[in-house]
Amino acid sequence: MKNIFNYTLVELENYFLSINEKKYRAHQLYDFIYNKKINIINDVTTFNTLLKENISKEISLDTLTLIDKKVSQDTVKFLFELDDKEKIETVIMKHDYGNSVCISTQVGCNMGCSFCESGRLKKVRDLEVYEMVLQVLMAEKHLNERVSHVVIMGIGEPFDNYANVLKFINIINDNKGLNIGSRHITLSTCGIIPKIKDFMNEGLGVNLAISLHAPNDIIRDKIMPINKVYYINNLIKIVREYIQKTNRRVTFEYIMLNDINDSETDALELSRLLRGINCYINLIPYNETSNSAYKKSNKEKILRFYDILKKNKINVTIRKEFGSDIDAACGQLRSKY
Ligand code: SF4
Repeated sequence: MKNIFNYTLVELENYFLSINEKKYRAHQLYDFIYNKKINIINDVTTFNTLLKENISKEISLDTLTLIDKKVSQDTVKFLFELDDKEKIETVIMKHDYGNSVCISTQVGCNMGCSFCESGRLKKVRDLEVYEMVLQVLMAEKHLNERVSHVVIMGIGEPFDNYANVLKFINIINDNKGLNIGSRHITLSTCGIIPKIKDFMNEGLGVNLAISLHAPNDIIRDKIMPINKVYYINNLIKIVREYIQKTNRRVTFEYIMLNDINDSETDALELSRLLRGINCYINLIPYNETSNSAYKKSNKEKILRFYDILKKNKINVTIRKEFGSDIDAACGQLRSKY
């Protein structure tokens, strides 16, 4: 049986055609599941009993099982169990501009970034499309409010699950469904260059973020194994191409690790590396966990780093710390289980 949240609207239209029904049935069903938020096919009041029975035999509306939830003032973190008992995390962050949901794309991750809790637990499998869509829907259900922004930045490397992530973006972007605008969707990658190239040609208009975290190969090699395959200069080169082709600004994520990548020299080198690129840098205070090999940079160091970038005319922000009291580091809640 196939889960309804795997279907794009076009696929659902084709499904209805295949069972000798009209295409508009797909639009009715889409409206019921995404806007009226029904949980069972039986609640689709525009379908007759026979149609409901037939669909129920082939399509399920099964959801994820919530097994843990941590709530703080601005953050909610969920641990969900999947059909095969694997677990994933989803985080809601409440901003003054709306509700943002950070979703996972894989069970575990093979990229092995040494500062990341998710990378410690290797990839078990890719998430199916419906398992990503349901993270957004479950967040909406909890909030009883609309999710306005989606960040694809949770457990997993999205470009290592490329086709499913692309389909997920298409589904949540559909204006007949969740209608989350492409400008409100951000995908973050550790820098898989061939996939950045593919993504550049998709014409999706979503935001791209690159987990950079270092100003040179020496530091990046130590904390991000992917850099041994895709060197920093090649990464910057493809980002320049991406910006030229898409006319979109790119974000660089830079996690501040004490005495690893946070010196004044590092800030100067980073300024040189990114000079002239239409980008901004998001400095991220590190979320220390009990397994961390690293310490977070102190406030003074982060501000000094920020000042140097500013002086060198690099657009820079310091990310607000979310939910450090509730195991908010990516993968932290899952690794407890
Ligand atoms: S930071 Fe992202 S890419 Fe790196 S190990 Fe963690 S989840 Fe994977």
